[in-house]
Amino acid sequence: MTDAAEVVVVGGGPAGASAAYYLAMAGHDVLVVEKATFPRDKICGDGLTPRAVAELIRMGVDTTGWARNTGLRTYGGGHCVEVPWPELASMPNYGLAAPRETFDDVLIEKAKEAGARLEEGVTVTGPIRHERTGRVIGVTAKAGPGREPREYRAPFIIDAGGVSARLATTVGRQKAMNRPMGVAYRTYFQSPQAEDSMMESHLELWEGKPGASDLMPGYGWIFAVGDGLVNVGLGSLSSNAQPSGLDYRAMFANWMANVPAEWGFTEENQVGKLRGAALPMAFNRKPHYADGLLLVGDAGGMVSPFNGEGIAYALQSGRMAADSIGQALARPTVSSMDAAVSEYPRMIRDELGGYYSLGRIFATLIERPEIMHLCVKYGLPRPTLMRFVMKLLSDCYDRTGGDWMDRTIAALAKAVPKA
Ligand SMILES: Cc1cc2nc3c(=O)[nH]c(=O)nc-3n(C[C@H](O)[C@H](O)[C@H](O)COP(=O)(O)OP(=O)(O)OC[C@H]3O[C@@H](n4cnc5c(N)ncnc54)[C@H](O)[C@@H]3O)c2cc1C
Repeated sequence: MTDAAEVVVVGGGPAGASAAYYLAMAGHDVLVVEKATFPRDKICGDGLTPRAVAELIRMGVDTTGWARNTGLRTYGGGHCVEVPWPELASMPNYGLAAPRETFDDVLIEKAKEAGARLEEGVTVTGPIRHERTGRVIGVTAKAGPGREPREYRAPFIIDAGGVSARLATTVGRQKAMNRPMGVAYRTYFQSPQAEDSMMESHLELWEGKPGASDLMPGYGWIFAVGDGLVNVGLGSLSSNAQPSGLDYRAMFANWMANVPAEWGFTEENQVGKLRGAALPMAFNRKPHYADGLLLVGDAGGMVSPFNGEGIAYALQSGRMAADSIGQALARPTVSSMDAAVSEYPRMIRDELGGYYSLGRIFATLIERPEIMHLCVKYGLPRPTLMRFVMKLLSDCYDRTGGDWMDRTIAALAKAVPKA
């Protein structure tokens, strides 16, 4: 069976849903093909920074009743520091958290309400290419329990298939090994910490008693996600995508054995298994547009090396991809359409390329535990420095205007070659 649309989006996560929403809002025939069936889980910390919330506001997503957070509490070097989300022109001063099972379902519904079509239980297996030009003009897929073969054709195809980026890989867009890659594991607990209004980040994880044992590599987080639940996870970062060789399950068990008993992070209170996945960072897969195929979100390696956040960038890249495709679809020839869509990689690089280059430098520094330890020990107790670091690490700064911190970060991001 063959179906056709103006745009086929592979994957209905935040990046795919955002692209589909904006395309449908502009009146285009957009078809999302998704291998899972919503609502489905996605391994994630479920944290939404103000940058992500700004994207949700843009899309008109109703977030009533979602867990709200007011800032970030950071533990490390014997210190505990709380920094509220900054007051900015370009984003709100609060974050949110929602389990991905709910979050992704809400987003894809939003895209459907706008007019996007969704086919679930469809796994895309490869590209269909124009026999003469090699342009990607469709995808092959297997659908339903019988794995029946399908084809979907469109002038533009978006790979929003997440970290596996199967489609992009099959057309030869391999991940770059010189870009940082994260690995993170998470689970949920019923816990009194679910009442906490701050996101929590643990920059030092101890093998045994905090301060009186060895430090483990990596960092941890605790985010209240509503309904009495907290998302608890840990991860590590490698500046060059080499496997870390770390035993994340053992690290998690060690960490849990040493957190305060009143947090209730016990087996009885655990909801769901500890599960992990990779985080592709700093544009580790490119080009973001060529030959009819755009990459958005994790498929384009858009997770921040600073903090492992990927949802804001998935939403943002989906929006920008939709904008450029909308321009292209109004043009008469393939070459003029391509010229319009080539705006997409330029826009996303202008927005994030410098920032991600700074993130690559950051990743190289903090993967050395002695540097991380020094930063934590001497940096955390300095409130102004911490406010600056929070803006930098969470990408919560105004790109234009703002205070001296915003202007400094923007100047640094302009000064480095773009990723
Ligand atoms: C443990 C962990 C914690 C994290 N915590 C945070 C956090 O707190 N905040 C944050 O902002 N980011 C976090 N991230 C990153 C975040 O999860 C991703 O950046 C985000 O999900 C990217 O969205 P996406 O739409 O690009 O991809 P995904 O969310 O992965 O969606 C891809 C979709 O494509 C579908 N798909 C894949 N292949 C195919 C195929 N061949 N055919 C059809 N469909 C396909 C999948 O089923 C899926 O629905 C975390 C990641 C991990 C691993």
